[in-house]
Amino acid sequence: MKGYRPKDPVGDERWKAIAMQYSEFDRHIELFSGESGARCPSGCGICCTGAWEPEITAPEAEFAARYIIEAREDLQQRFELLQERECCIFYDHHNPFHCMIYSVRPVICRGFGFSGYTDKNGSFIYRPCRHMECSDPRKPPLSGPVLSDYQAQYTLEYREVLPISEAVFHAWQKLQYRFSLEAHDSPESRE
Ligand code: SF4
Ligand code: SF4
Repeated sequence: MKGYRPKDPVGDERWKAIAMQYSEFDRHIELFSGESGARCPSGCGICCTGAWEPEITAPEAEFAARYIIEAREDLQQRFELLQERECCIFYDHHNPFHCMIYSVRPVICRGFGFSGYTDKNGSFIYRPCRHMECSDPRKPPLSGPVLSDYQAQYTLEYREVLPISEAVFHAWQKLQYRFSLEAHDSPESRE
């Protein structure tokens, strides 16, 4: 699935930067998957079905919310499930990727099972998902994507995090408001 590109990235460099960073992270994960043999079993989506949801900061939430406004208006009805939800509101068992916002899913969703962290000596420690297939789990990969490196620009500046369903809902509300103000102030609306 192709990455999402906001319609007017010039208007907000932050969104453009997120799109580029996601592409870079995906390439890193693909390389890692090829080298390590790490794979998700076909049809699995267990990580998205639990009550625990990934927590994300405002920039990633805004990126997903903007995608919903610009490209997937039909997904706005998912917000009605917010209070009664049992898992992430974007999980869809019938979708081949199990995710309705697959192209704009945050870093933590992209990297889960395909990334790791560095220990105090700077060595890469792979953190596989227990449901994953791996070519040879006795030979842990010596290098790979470090999740915190990719999350850094979102977590250092924006310390507040929310579960993804709520984060995207709040971002969507804010953006709707912002876009309505911009439309109201545009030269066309003043004619
Ligand atoms: S990361 Fe784990 S739980 Fe999620 S789809 Fe892959 S194998 Fe399944
Ligand atoms: S955004 Fe998508 S990948 Fe992330 S938890 Fe929700 S359904 Fe899963």
